[in-house]
Amino acid sequence: MDKYRVKPGKKIALRDFDPNDRGDMQGEKDKGIEKLAKLRLELNQLQELLYAEHKHKLLIVLQAMDTAGKDGTIRSVFEGVNPQGVRVANFKAPTVPELDHDYLWRVHAQVPGKGEITIFNRSQYEDVLVVRVHNLVPETVWKKRYQHINAFERMLADESTTILKFYLNIDAEEQKQRFLERLNTPEKNWKFNPSDLSERKLWPQYIQAYEDALNETSTDWAPWYVVPANHNWYRNLVVVSVIVGTLKGLKMSFPKPDEDLAQYRKALESE
Ligand code: AMP
Ligand code: MG
Repeated sequence: MDKYRVKPGKKIALRDFDPNDRGDMQGEKDKGIEKLAKLRLELNQLQELLYAEHKHKLLIVLQAMDTAGKDGTIRSVFEGVNPQGVRVANFKAPTVPELDHDYLWRVHAQVPGKGEITIFNRSQYEDVLVVRVHNLVPETVWKKRYQHINAFERMLADESTTILKFYLNIDAEEQKQRFLERLNTPEKNWKFNPSDLSERKLWPQYIQAYEDALNETSTDWAPWYVVPANHNWYRNLVVVSVIVGTLKGLKMSFPKPDEDLAQYRKALESE
């Protein structure tokens, strides 16, 4: 999965990442889905361990163009995970009180605590994406934000937060098909918003903004992954693989009891 990671100091271009890529699983969708199910079980166990150990914090950032599948990824990857230890934070257009504060104010309030997994469905990155594309603040303002975000994430990492950031990469043709599907399926009509099409017209500007964000903010402490997302099953597989691999790397263990439990066992058995 390391081939999808944006290495710090090396500039990437999104055109070099194939949204149709299925790695070594091309033509093996069934096998891929089996693998996904196995990794999901592993994730469930690792989440329990994370919660029990109460030491690490896991922050997952999801960013993508409309229809790329942020919601679908959350649904698939976290299926079966104990809801007590996982939280989703959605970042929509800021409210008036949020706009009265700095852009990281609402974000910091949502970061995970010890033993917790928090998934950001959109994030602080909107403040260098939609905000930039729509000129909601001048360039001199948004340009400084890469530095702030890197420093903010560094602070979180220093305070035992593991950060994984995923850009779900679809192409414009795939988005068109997905919008058509929403328009053609009554049960999916609700997902369509007329403003989606004006946003779609800004595709090249968004790609530029994403490319800059990925290049400026993929760090050793908070790496970005460019996830091929034209095929939902492969997208889910990549995301869960990275999460499971990272959690395994934390070398977590269940906490040991402070005292010898034999006495309590004996007491109960002799009741
Ligand atoms: P959705 O995720 O489809 O419900 O849409 C949420 C909307 O909120 C998207 O159009 C985002 O671009 C927008 N949004 C999120 N964060 C910001 C922000 N900081 N400034 C402006 N718009 C934002
Ligand atoms: Mg939307």
